[in-house]
Amino acid sequence: MKIFTTILDILFPRKCVFCAKILNKGDDGLCDNCVESLPYADNYGYQKGEIFDFCISPLYYTDVVRQSILRYKFGNASYYSDEYAKVLADCIKECPDLKYDIISWVPLSKKRERKRGYDQAMLLATKTADNLGKTAEVVLRKHRDVQPQSELGNKTERSANISGAYEATNPEIIKNKHILLIDDVITTGSTLDECAGVLLSAGAAGITGATLAKGD
Ligand SMILES: [Zn+2]
Repeated sequence: MKIFTTILDILFPRKCVFCAKILNKGDDGLCDNCVESLPYADNYGYQKGEIFDFCISPLYYTDVVRQSILRYKFGNASYYSDEYAKVLADCIKECPDLKYDIISWVPLSKKRERKRGYDQAMLLATKTADNLGKTAEVVLRKHRDVQPQSELGNKTERSANISGAYEATNPEIIKNKHILLIDDVITTGSTLDECAGVLLSAGAAGITGATLAKGD
């Protein structure tokens, strides 16, 4: 088995999920350089929401982080979620103000998920919950496909684009519960605000976000 693994390592050398350089033997999924020099966000990347309470993010959406997340979403690199989940779970564990009863995620529409082959936020949430000794649960469905938020500019445009796109799927499990919603990137926060509005209307007590990275 060890020989088999060694042959696989020679044929398909493992690469750092962020900078894509070939890893040294014994490295986890990140190279030493990235462990040292990733653009780690200050103060847990704390960002206040209008409808959600606040969102935390361990990294800034820049440089190798941005390139890595683009490969994750559009380059079929779904296995990156293993390493991402460790980084995100550490941030959630360390953040002192965070309280939640349920872990969930901002879902893709079924159409987009079929096209991509996976829901990147669901993978990230499932594995992050694993790292925290918990299970992620479905609380939202995106029933309408919209223009990708990344193609739009300011918060007003993004909020209008996403309005009415989500619905609560399991109102009975969220009643009076605090929900931690996981996504890959937060920028203006309009997607999280929209999701939080839907969940609060369905009876949730409060919504907090946690994303791998935070844009400008
Ligand atoms: Zn690296």
